[in-house]
Amino acid sequence: MNAIIIGSGFGGLGAAGLLAKKGYEVHVFEKNEQPGGRASVLHKDGFTFDMGPSWYLMPDIFEDFYRLLGERVEDHLTLHRLDPSYRVFFPNREPLDLSSDIEKTAVLFERLEPGAGERFRAYLTKSEKQYHIAVNKFLYKNYDTVFDFFTKETMTEGRKLKVFSNMQRYVERHFKHDILQKILQYTLVFLGGSPYNTPALYNIMSHIDFNMGVFYPEGGIARVVESLVQIAEKNGAQFHYNAPVRSILVEDRNAVGVKLENGETHRADIVISNAEVAYTEQHLLDPSQRMYSDRYWKNRTLAPSAFLLYLGVKGELPNTLHHNLYFCKDWQKNFREIFDDPRWPEDPSIYISVTSKTDPNVAPEGHENLVILVPISPKLDDHEEARKQFRDQIIQKVSSILKVPDLKCRIISETMFVTKDFELRYNAQGGSALGLAHTLFQTAIFRPNNINKKVKNLFYVGSSTNPGIGMPICLISAELLIKRLTHDRSFEKLPSL
Ligand SMILES: Cc1cc2nc3c(=O)[nH]c(=O)nc-3n(C[C@H](O)[C@H](O)[C@H](O)COP(=O)(O)OP(=O)(O)OC[C@H]3O[C@@H](n4cnc5c(N)ncnc54)[C@H](O)[C@@H]3O)c2cc1C
Repeated sequence: MNAIIIGSGFGGLGAAGLLAKKGYEVHVFEKNEQPGGRASVLHKDGFTFDMGPSWYLMPDIFEDFYRLLGERVEDHLTLHRLDPSYRVFFPNREPLDLSSDIEKTAVLFERLEPGAGERFRAYLTKSEKQYHIAVNKFLYKNYDTVFDFFTKETMTEGRKLKVFSNMQRYVERHFKHDILQKILQYTLVFLGGSPYNTPALYNIMSHIDFNMGVFYPEGGIARVVESLVQIAEKNGAQFHYNAPVRSILVEDRNAVGVKLENGETHRADIVISNAEVAYTEQHLLDPSQRMYSDRYWKNRTLAPSAFLLYLGVKGELPNTLHHNLYFCKDWQKNFREIFDDPRWPEDPSIYISVTSKTDPNVAPEGHENLVILVPISPKLDDHEEARKQFRDQIIQKVSSILKVPDLKCRIISETMFVTKDFELRYNAQGGSALGLAHTLFQTAIFRPNNINKKVKNLFYVGSSTNPGIGMPICLISAELLIKRLTHDRSFEKLPSL
């Protein structure tokens, strides 16, 4: 059997690895010059920047995935658990460091709100329980009809997961202090949502954040991508870069291969698209072969886009850790600017990553590599003048947050990446950084399916199908593809290939 995979994001890499290990002849066609998709790497002026993901979370999922490939994570990656996990900055108050030690964090919670330390421990215990329910009952299941989702078992478990509440209400019930609420909610931005539109089941992010911890793989996320390519190649997969696919070839309602932009055609028994489902259906298939209408896509909730700056900076940045978060004053207004009333935000929340704090190889000696990420609405008019103005505003803001007044003068390398770049580089629907947000009605049965029911042997993998956003979650989507091919209807993760 041979398989063609369109795109080499985490979902595509996962699928390539598993299919090659199963003995398929695998060809991956990637439009860009390197693998990784949104997890691309930028080498510039002696600096190395992970362009997308920088938080290695859910190490258990990576371990399971490498095991399926017959490998061990520790033979490929050197992981460091960060401690503190990250620093949080606020307007007009001292920053807080969130330790990887739960007891220290509980003390911090207690200091801000009497009784919150004990409640934090209980919150995490519940979050851990819910994480295991999510992994064992929801994440590894292919959904086809509502009856797959609304079984007696999932309804009972679903009630425990509080799916019908939202994160704002859920967190408010446990903690009153504004800062504590924000600390328990910021991870929702990783899922492309806000506390107001994300179901409370995602409180499992707290178990992931606090109990499991935040890791850094030496060499950055680029090293994880490299290792997945190496493993797939070891098992015979072939990667073709600068090879954009123009269309999926369909004969008698069967996917039989792809046509590249350069006119070449390649045939295969199955075709798997790791390009977003919206893009694949609207650009690579004829209307009669699409599962979803244009109206369907117009009505989806997109995750935020991002304003990204990759900066090489001379000298040290003394007040930063590896991961730094700035929580803006008017949290609600900022979410409105991102989701409801698109505008360039006045005082946005900001994420600042400085991987040179942990890894000396990503910046020349005496320098730091700084990635600044500001979540923005994908609906903004992303043009040169607006970008420039926003860039100046953000650099000024970051200098003041980090107390580095001369930051602007110390920048020796600069690259900007905004909405239109997401569209151009990754064919991302509407320029969203993450794709479809994890609202309740874009989760599980409600998320685009990983099988095209109109075209046989055409499958989807990656963040726009199930289970959704995030590197480990996209690796699970590759497992779901294998379960599709083997007609495995179970809830459990694959014990072996
Ligand atoms: C700024 C940012 C920060 C993030 N932070 C984190 C984090 O800290 N931790 C985490 O776990 N996740 C994070 N994420 C999310 C995570 O990166 C993504 O969910 C995941 O990498 C998406 O993988 P994917 O399989 O959906 O493929 P994508 O990364 O979307 O890749 C799809 C691939 O398909 C290719 N393609 C598209 N069209 C064609 C075509 N016609 N022909 C050939 N190839 C094509 C694209 O070039 C691309 O390589 C972040 C994302 C971003 C953008």
